[in-house]
Amino acid sequence: MIHVVLHFLIPFLAGFIFYRTRWIFASSLMIITMLVDVDHLLADPIYEPLRCSINFHPLHSYLAIGLYVLLFLIPVLLKKRSLKKSVKKRLDIIQLIGLGFIIHMALDAVDCL
Ligand SMILES: [Zn+2]
Repeated sequence: MIHVVLHFLIPFLAGFIFYRTRWIFASSLMIITMLVDVDHLLADPIYEPLRCSINFHPLHSYLAIGLYVLLFLIPVLLKKRSLKKSVKKRLDIIQLIGLGFIIHMALDAVDCL
């Protein structure tokens, strides 16, 4: 139960701390990334409390996690350039999605210890 609560609490806090002026948007977007758990539907059984999700489910694979890190890092690098405001907004969204996935994977990884 604590695991599920943390999946809401940590993105909420990250949004509140790091995106102060638009924390509701940032926190909501990161919480929505919990939908990545849709890949659990491919497993049999769908839910097994002691199973380590990391590298078991396709959207929790090391490859997918690498892509999530890129989703977070590429906007960081691109935003240093002088881009249109609309492009920077889109990069912000991509970065938040990446951060939400990274937080999700980190929390799931704790269950594997
Ligand atoms: Zn998960």
